[in-house]
Amino acid sequence: MAKQDKTPGELLAEQLCYKPENAGILMEEKELKEAFDFCEGYKTFLDKAKTEREAVEYTEALLKKKGYRLYDPEKTYRSGDKVYLNNRGKALIFAAIGKRPLSQGVRIVASHIDSPRIDLKQRPLYEEAQLAMLKTHYYGGVRKYQWVTIPLALHGVIIKKDGTAVQVCIGESEDDPIFCINDLLPHLSREQNKRTLNEGIKGEELNVLVGSLPFKDDKASEKVKLRILKLLFEKFGVIEADFLSAELCLVPAFKARDLGLDRSMVGAYGHDDRVCAYTSIMACLEHPEPEYTWVNILADKEETGSDGNTGLNSRFLEHFIQDLAHSQGLEGRHVLEKSECLSADVNAAFDPTFPDVHEKKNASYLNYGAVMSKYTGSGGKGGTNDASAEFVGRIRRIFDEAGVIWQTAELGKVDAGGGGTVAKFISRLGADVVDIGVPVLSMHAPFEVVAKADVYSAYKAFGAFVANEE
Ligand code: MN
Ligand code: MN
Repeated sequence: MAKQDKTPGELLAEQLCYKPENAGILMEEKELKEAFDFCEGYKTFLDKAKTEREAVEYTEALLKKKGYRLYDPEKTYRSGDKVYLNNRGKALIFAAIGKRPLSQGVRIVASHIDSPRIDLKQRPLYEEAQLAMLKTHYYGGVRKYQWVTIPLALHGVIIKKDGTAVQVCIGESEDDPIFCINDLLPHLSREQNKRTLNEGIKGEELNVLVGSLPFKDDKASEKVKLRILKLLFEKFGVIEADFLSAELCLVPAFKARDLGLDRSMVGAYGHDDRVCAYTSIMACLEHPEPEYTWVNILADKEETGSDGNTGLNSRFLEHFIQDLAHSQGLEGRHVLEKSECLSADVNAAFDPTFPDVHEKKNASYLNYGAVMSKYTGSGGKGGTNDASAEFVGRIRRIFDEAGVIWQTAELGKVDAGGGGTVAKFISRLGADVVDIGVPVLSMHAPFEVVAKADVYSAYKAFGAFVANEE
């Protein structure tokens, strides 16, 4: 419709009303294709980095290829230097030193590379009714009923008594065996059906089936378990006691796939939060000589509350900034107070099947771009970093000037539940922080869904932030 055909009301609405638009409408065909192409790399990352350790390994290899050097706190770094710090193989910081002095602050992007999963207990292996099983303790906020009767792969590391590490990854290649957690048949689930959904499968019922054939012997007991131990010994040189010092987990064995007839989405395990990890890694790597120093953090332990020395409730980020600051004769806190951070984490996308948990006007939608959450938390903004209007205003300008497609959202209706991110741990250091991420359907399920246009928009958003020169 030409401008002269519009009514005064339509023109006024155009001038005054805020109306987000679907990326499918906003993006040119060419850009949509770029978004789709970008997600090919993302799918590879999802398949290769299903645990935090694997994500660190993958990213470290990439960083080395791009000329990033292991960070040395004794050294002085200047503009153009590119460094990374590997925190115990489970978390990673990498940075490019900018042209401006650190006294003007740094730009931080912080995502997490751990995802909800099923961890093995320290003494996992047992035999019952001539089946070999593994006891587990779920990691993060999982809806337990979703993790039964799906193909699972075993990932992790076993530290033997002599200190050597054995890497384990079974169930990812086509000819590998896989594992599963069993459930009742409908014919016999009358009693189980009376349980609440939350208790439908109980924590102690998440037992993994790993074997069924006994070791041929007249005298030995628990012969199925024995045969599994024999196989483990032959393959990895480990004995049962080595489970005591292991970190093994079950993750979905399936690969990331295009979803929908229009292939507009990606279905996969672990979008939360590898979608922000991947997009921020790719965005940062494109700006190796920034105006302001940028710092990218891939954190562990977010799904269990960020505690532990590889989570952001420890001080490894603070210490990193402090050491950098000292090398330029500054105090870390003075750098941090001037710093800005995008806490890069996913948000719940509006699901038309479950509209009741969302407040439609303040929910995030698939294909409406990167999602900003001024605050997270629950119960009257409890336990959150609530970004200031000034900082939100600044990020808004940066995104709009760079043509980023973005939206705002809360995590569900007021008092419907809630959740947190690493934002509050970084704002505690004095930096300005706001949450930016990607809308996800079925968050924390073994198979989560994101839209490709949103993945691409997040990548654009992080790029605009780290490249901003003001
Ligand atoms: Mn997350
Ligand atoms: Mn999460």
